[in-house]
Order: sequence, then C-alpha cells, then structure tokens
Amino acid sequence: MSAPGETRMFDKVALLGAGLIGSSLAWAIRARGLAAHVSAYSRRAETRAVIEKLGFADSLHSDPGAAVEGADLVIFCAPVGANAALAEAAGPHLAKGAIVTDVGSVKQAVIRDIGPYLPEGVEFIPGHPIAGTEHSGPEAGFGDLFEQRWCILTPVPGTPEAAVEKLTAFWQRCGSTIAVMDAAHHDKVLAITSHLPHLIAYTIVGTATDLEESERAEVVKFSAGGFRDFTRIAGSDPVMWRDVFLNNRESVLEMLQRFSEDITALQRAIRWGEGEVLEQLFRRTREIRKGVIEAHQAGSFDPREPERSGTAGPAPGKTDPGED
Ligand code: NAP
Repeated sequence: MSAPGETRMFDKVALLGAGLIGSSLAWAIRARGLAAHVSAYSRRAETRAVIEKLGFADSLHSDPGAAVEGADLVIFCAPVGANAALAEAAGPHLAKGAIVTDVGSVKQAVIRDIGPYLPEGVEFIPGHPIAGTEHSGPEAGFGDLFEQRWCILTPVPGTPEAAVEKLTAFWQRCGSTIAVMDAAHHDKVLAITSHLPHLIAYTIVGTATDLEESERAEVVKFSAGGFRDFTRIAGSDPVMWRDVFLNNRESVLEMLQRFSEDITALQRAIRWGEGEVLEQLFRRTREIRKGVIEAHQAGSFDPREPERSGTAGPAPGKTDPGED
C-alpha cells in the first residue's frame, strides 16, 4: 500500500480499536505509505461493518490476538479502561521485536494495565497524540488530524533508544512534533490542560440542564455568549472521558483542589466588589491566550460556524481545537 516515493516504515501496523484516533492513524499511514498492511480490531460487529465500508483497514478482526499476529507496530486505540483485557488477549500473539504503543489520554494507568501482559522481546513505548475532536467512532477520523500537533511519548525505563527513535519518526511522518517525558509528569500536565477543562465543561452544561424550564430554553437560545464552546467540549465521548477520570484520579483531584481554591477567591472578590482582583486575573489569562495562539495551538474554531463535523477519509479536514 506504500505510496510511490515514500519510505515504508513497518510491514504491518495493528490498531486495537479504530474509532476517531485509530481510523485517523489508519488514514495517515495509508496516505503517507508508512506500512504495507494495516490491520484493525474492533469489538462490535456494527463498528466492523462501518470500518469495512470506509475501507481504511487491509484486514479486520473481532479478535485482538488475530489482529496483532505478525505486526511490527501495535497501537492500542480503545478507551483506556479497555486496555488490560485487550493486552491480555493480544499479549501471547505479539511478534518478537514488535513496538507496542498506545494513544491513551493518561499514561501511568496504561503502563500499569498493558505492561504486565507484554512478553520478552517486545518494546513498550506509551504515547499520547494531543490531537482530536469532540466526535467519535471510525467515521470521524481523517488523515491530517495529527498535523502540527504534539505527540507525547513516555517510554518505560530501559527502552532501547532505537525503538524510541523509530516511533518518533513514525509520529513525525504523521505530522506531529514529539515531546518525551515521564508518565507521571504527563498525567499531571494533562490533568490541568485537558482533563480539568473537560470536567468543568461537563459540570457547566450539567448545571444549565438542571435550571428551571424557562431559563433552560434561553441557555440554548443565547448559547453563543460562551456557553456554546462548553457544550462542544461537553459533547465529547462519555466512555472515553469516564475512563480518563477513573484512571487519572490523583492528578485530577489535585488540580480540582487548586481550582476550587481559586474559584472561591474569585467568588470573594465578586462579593466584595474587588474589581482590580478580577481585572488583574483576566489580563493575565489574556496573555496566556496570546501565547497559545503564538504556539499555533489555538486550532481553527470559528465562532461564526455553529457546527462542524469530522471529515472522514484521507481528505484534509479542519481540525477543531485539540480535544484530548
Ligand atoms: P472512539 O472514537 O470512541 O473509539 C474507540 C473505539 O474503541 C470504539 O470504536 C470502540 O469500538 C472501541 N471500544 C470501546 N470500548 C471498548 C472496549 N471495552 N473493548 C474494546 N474496544 C472498545 O475513541 P477515540 O476518541 O478514538 O479514543 C481512543 C483513545 O484515544 C482513548 O484512549 C482516548 O483517551 C485517546 N485519545 C482521544 C482523543 C480524542 O480527542 N478523542 C485525543 C487523544 C487521545 P467498538 O464500537 O467496536 O466497541
């Protein structure tokens, strides 16, 4: 399947789960000719039928073991709560010398859940692309999802440098820039940059839903006042996010504690009419926003566009601000 002029990196890449991230990887691999064969495992027959129709996998499996047979790169792409069972099923079928990685939004729990099932001679390099949309399932994927996005790798101690370099080159070919860090550090950073913002969005939308009927109708009508951005984030996949919070509990609770203290301080400033406290904070946060734009991580969200759906297939799609 290699495109002419492209250098193939792997003989067979196996995707364990092929929703938004897995299917986007498959399209990226095909478009860039990174592997001779892409195999995909998907649990449900309905999802396999969709994958077959979309045509991004060379072989499709209902058994994780069959999907990874002979693969030199295996990527776990299901919600992180599914990893232990998938690893247990796939472990005995992994080929010697294979690189095993994942795309999960938490990293310590992934090491805990997949690590014990990996046989000798397999290199395990957990990963996390900081890219995504609020859409899910195989139809939501597109091959440019990882362009100009970070991908964090958290290799376990003792991983040979050559394997890390190979996986780094793979993600670079998918368009990403790589950062390598410790799994615990990843979980702390992502707790504040991604997990807490999602928790806040879920909470605000939930609170609005509990309002009196008449007020609730106006929440939807006037949602462009800021609420709409929260509803976009709060529309993210429930199972994926359930698993993120259950598997990054300590870091999320720590950041939530800090957040609660800060919001209590703001509550006090509003109560006592301390305008300078509010203004000072808002000026500081405006600078942060500028920094995000300058780092090209602001995405392309256009407030005039009320809705946008992921673009299936290899055609370039507009990326919403990175969910993750
Ligand atoms: P998704 O679109 O919902 O796809 C996940 C796929 O996993 C589904 O198609 C589903 O296939 C399968 N699955 C669900 N539960 C399973 C289980 N218990 N056992 C086996 N398979 C199961 O999710 P995604 O957005 O691609 O996320 C996949 C991973 O990427 C997650 O670990 C997430 O943390 C990480 N991630 C997500 C984003 C994002 O923005 N979405 C960004 C970066 C990283 P079936 O229908 O066949 O069950």
